[in-house]
Amino acid sequence: MDIRALDNCPIALQSNAVNVKNHLVAIEDAKLGPADPLDKNTSFWQEKAVLWGVSEGDARGRLCNNCEYYFDTPQIRNCVADGPAKDLKASALPLIPPWADIEDQPIGYCTMWDITCSPIRTCDDQEIYQRTDPMEEEDTQEPTNVFDSSIIEYSDLTKSSLED
Ligand code: SF4
Repeated sequence: MDIRALDNCPIALQSNAVNVKNHLVAIEDAKLGPADPLDKNTSFWQEKAVLWGVSEGDARGRLCNNCEYYFDTPQIRNCVADGPAKDLKASALPLIPPWADIEDQPIGYCTMWDITCSPIRTCDDQEIYQRTDPMEEEDTQEPTNVFDSSIIEYSDLTKSSLED
């Protein structure tokens, strides 16, 4: 691995130790989960529904995948593919019982917790990603894909809950 290729990547994508440590903080502080998203997880989703003031059904639709802090840009995918994160499985987290592996390798990154994350998990800090009205976009020459410019969001390479 050429570690220079990771220079512009978030810290957690350069270090599995940081990624794991930040996962444990997110699980403790923001109830990141569920351990196995493919289970029913009724109590997990009922607690999120109460927290967010929505129905359980609506809570089940608030996921990392549609969170404003979730990024699966080509840059992020390159960081995963070129770095240690590609070998990090959810089941490797020091948790009992172990978390379920949903993907072969991480495909998304969370700027809130500086972790890789599965698109079908969630946490207390989930914020629905607000898509721009496409009719408004037609009136501008700005990029139509928010991920094209989102790399700026994590340009602070010192960002890590280890240091924060
Ligand atoms: S902040 Fe958003 S992307 Fe990050 S873990 Fe929570 S739900 Fe997932």
